[in-house]
Amino acid sequence: MNKTTSILLVYTGGTIGMKQDPETLDLRPFDFSQILEEMPELRKFGYTIDTYSFDPVIDSSDVNIEFWKNLTHLIEQNYGRYDGFVILHGTDTMSFSASALSFMLGDIEKPVVFTGSQLPIGMLRTDGKENLISSIEIAASKDRNGHPMVPEVCIYFESQLYRGNRTTKYTAENFRAFRSANYPVLAEVGIHIKFNTAFIRYPETWGKPLRPTYELDPSVLIIKVIPGMKKELLDALVSIDGIRAIVLETYGSGNAPSGSWFTDSVKKAIDRGVIVLNITQCLAGRVDMDAYSTGKSLKNIGVTGGGDCTTEAAVAKLFFLLGQYSDNEDIVYFLKKNMRGELTEV
Ligand code: ASP
Repeated sequence: MNKTTSILLVYTGGTIGMKQDPETLDLRPFDFSQILEEMPELRKFGYTIDTYSFDPVIDSSDVNIEFWKNLTHLIEQNYGRYDGFVILHGTDTMSFSASALSFMLGDIEKPVVFTGSQLPIGMLRTDGKENLISSIEIAASKDRNGHPMVPEVCIYFESQLYRGNRTTKYTAENFRAFRSANYPVLAEVGIHIKFNTAFIRYPETWGKPLRPTYELDPSVLIIKVIPGMKKELLDALVSIDGIRAIVLETYGSGNAPSGSWFTDSVKKAIDRGVIVLNITQCLAGRVDMDAYSTGKSLKNIGVTGGGDCTTEAAVAKLFFLLGQYSDNEDIVYFLKKNMRGELTEV
């Protein structure tokens, strides 16, 4: 007899797990171990659905690297026991967490599906129920050989499944809260779930053990280029002690002010061993530092091009690489490589 499909449903916090107090109308987290009571329809799947709630649950603005380590550890501890994992998480930093987990978990062979909602699950018009039900179904889906359909860290939201490290939270208002502007959706949910298998990462051979990484170094600063930015402020930022890498958010295909005041300032960081990664401020497209002379001058002083990586994935990748390597050459080598599907190499 086939073993029943088993899913671990993890509640970390965020809007999805809230219920409105009927008297005060305040939103409060509800006792998540009661989820099957709240949503009896989940029993209809016929899967074993176990729940685990973080204690305390957190608004995702409080996510930090300790939280990512705890979540990774929880998945590692339960990896052999479950067919898939559904992580309920606040939307605000979900793209950062999904990106971080994609690096920390390494080459996974089971689905880890992050989801949440814009309206609490206890509200009548909630988007949380559909998001949760479809995420569970996706995490449980297998091909005819019994392998998971999506062995990746993903985000499911409003009928679309995305590769987690390709996403950005796009709106604080609409139900379709996320975008994956540089990579196609992994699945689309309508009457049927259509998996976009050509774009899903599958292992070359199945059966490898999970090898998570817990060493992260968050010595990273983001500097967003703005018109009229002050040289003194830029100089002060690049000189802060303790930075090992800067994500430089530039214009368009990787452009920045052409004056030597700018490149000289960035070079100061590079000369003292700080890695500078060029990421575009645009939601879609990629950094091409050969396209314009301003990009070229950044390349000439040793700035690394971040291609079509999102800021969230760039930050997570840097935390991960800085935690693994002390030599900048190794870090820059991997920044240019597609490690977990976060980057389109050209
Ligand atoms: N502030 C909430 C959070 O990110 C918003 C949400 O869950 O959508 O935790």
